[in-house]
Amino acid sequence: MAKYIFITGGVISSLGKGIASASIGKILESRGIKVTLMKLDPYINVDPGTMNPYQHGEVYVTEDGAETDLDLGHYERFTNAEMTKFNNATTGQVYNAVISRERRGDYLGKTIQVIPHITNEIKDRIKKVASVSLAQVVIIEIGGTVGDIESLPFLEAARQFRLDMGYENVLYIHLTLVPYIKVAGEIKTKPTQHSVGTLREIGIQPDVLICRTEKSLSDEVKEKISLFCNIKKEAVIEAKDVDSIYEIPLVFKGQGLDKILLRHFKITCNVFDLKEWKKNVVDRALNPKHKVKIAFVGKYIGLQDAYKSVYEALIHSGIANDSKVEIKRVDSEEIEKFGPQEFLKDVSGVLVPGGFGYRGIEGKIAAIRYARENDIPFLGLCLGMQCAIIEFSRNACGLKNANSTEFNKKAPYPVISLLEEQKKIKDMGGTMRLGSCVCKVKKGTKARALYKKGLVYERHRHRYEFNNKYKKLLEKKGMAFSGIYPKNNLVEIVELKNHTFFIAVQFHPEFKSKPDKAHPLFEGFIRAALKIRN
Ligand code: GLN
Repeated sequence: MAKYIFITGGVISSLGKGIASASIGKILESRGIKVTLMKLDPYINVDPGTMNPYQHGEVYVTEDGAETDLDLGHYERFTNAEMTKFNNATTGQVYNAVISRERRGDYLGKTIQVIPHITNEIKDRIKKVASVSLAQVVIIEIGGTVGDIESLPFLEAARQFRLDMGYENVLYIHLTLVPYIKVAGEIKTKPTQHSVGTLREIGIQPDVLICRTEKSLSDEVKEKISLFCNIKKEAVIEAKDVDSIYEIPLVFKGQGLDKILLRHFKITCNVFDLKEWKKNVVDRALNPKHKVKIAFVGKYIGLQDAYKSVYEALIHSGIANDSKVEIKRVDSEEIEKFGPQEFLKDVSGVLVPGGFGYRGIEGKIAAIRYARENDIPFLGLCLGMQCAIIEFSRNACGLKNANSTEFNKKAPYPVISLLEEQKKIKDMGGTMRLGSCVCKVKKGTKARALYKKGLVYERHRHRYEFNNKYKKLLEKKGMAFSGIYPKNNLVEIVELKNHTFFIAVQFHPEFKSKPDKAHPLFEGFIRAALKIRN
C-alpha cells in the first residue's frame, strides 16, 4: 500500500512549496523509494491552459498532453516521476466530474454536498495517482495558503485521508515563513504559530514543519516553534535561502528529513545516494568556470514564473557546460521601439521562447534577424520557430509581409497557418496540439548531431504549423527542415546551413531538460554561445 505525504503552505504564498515538494521527492528517491507527486489547485479553471501567464505563470505540458501547473515541472526536474494528466487536479475538474455524475443520475436522488461528494472525488483522484504510478510514496502538494476559503475542500480531504488510511500511512508537512524583523533584530515565530493553529482548526496537526527563513534558526527558536506548534523539535526543519534551488534536497537531508519520513512510515532501507546530485548538479551550479550571456527575448519577462522551464533548461545547459548562464531578459516591445542592436550587442546567444498573440512579435522578428545576420547563436522555441520562419521568408526569400495567420488572417504569404482540423475548433480549452509527438531527425543536420539519434519525442502546445507550401523556396534559400513529424509531414525543426548555430523547433524541449541531463538542443546552444564568446 502506498504512503501519502500532504504538503500545505502557510503565512504567505510563493514560499516555494513546489520546490520543497520536489526536493522531498528527491530525498526519498535517494533512499531507493519510488515516488510520485501530485498538485491540487484550488482555482475553478479546469486547467491553466486558457490562463494568462501574468495570472498563472508557465503552463507545464506533460507527455500525455495535459496542460498543468508549473510545479509539475519541478517534480519532473527533481525526480524520476513521470507526470500525467492525473497528477494535477483543480477545483474545476473535481466539480466538473461530480456535476456530470449528478446530471447522469448516478447519485440516485441524494443531495450532493462538499462533504462527502467533493471530498470523495478528491480522495479518489489521489488514490488513482497512487495506483497508476505504483509509487511507494505519493507526495501531494495543496495549492494556496492555509486560511484561504477555496482550498478548504482539499484540506478536508487531506484530513480524512489519515482517518481512512491509518495514522502511519499519512504524514502532513507544513511549509511556513519565519520572518526576520530587521529593526528588532529578531526572528518571529508568531505567524507560524497562527498558521499551524489554523491548520489544527481544520483538523490537521502537521508532523513536520519546514521553515523558510533568511537567518538560521537557533536552538531556542526551534524549541519555541516545537512547543507552540506541537511538533517534535527534530521535525522543525530550517529552509534558509540558497543560491541554487537544487541545493534544497541536500539541505533537507542534512537535517535528517528523510529519516523522519521513513521512520513515520516504518520503511526500512539502506540506500543512500545524493552524492552524484551534489557533484554533478549542485557543485557545478555553484562554482561554474565560465560565463556566458544570453538574450531572452519575450514579452512576459518581468515575471519570474512565465518561462520557468526555459530558464531552468538554460541553467541545466550551463551546468553541463560548466558555465554560468547570465540571462538578459529583453522585452520584445522594447526592441520594436529602439531596435535590436541596443539590446543584443553584448550577448553571445539569442533565445526566443513560445507565446501567443501579436503583441511583441515584430520585436522578436527583429531580434532573430539580428542573430541571423550577425551569426549569433539562436534558439527558437515554438512561437520562436514561427517567428524565425516569418523572418526568413520576409528578409531572405523576398516574401514581403509574410506572416502567421494568427497575426494576420489575410497575410499575403501565410507561412504559418492552421491545419484544417484546427479551423473547426470552437472550444479553446485543451484543443491545441498537445503533448508528446515523435519527430524524425534528418541525417547530416545539426539537430541530428546534437540529438545523436534519428527518432526523438518532444512535447507540443500550439495551434499553428509551418505551411509546407513554402518549404521548397525556404530550402533553396538555405533553411534546412531537419525534423519532421512523419504522420502528417509537419515541420518540427528548422536550421540554417550557413550559420554558427541557428535552430528553431515547433515543440517545447524545455519540458524535458533536467539538471543532471541537460536537453541536447539547449546544451548545444550554450556550447555554441561559449564558442563565439571565446
Ligand atoms: N501561438 C503559437 C501557436 O499557437 C505558438 C504557441 C507557443 O509558442 N506555445 O501555434
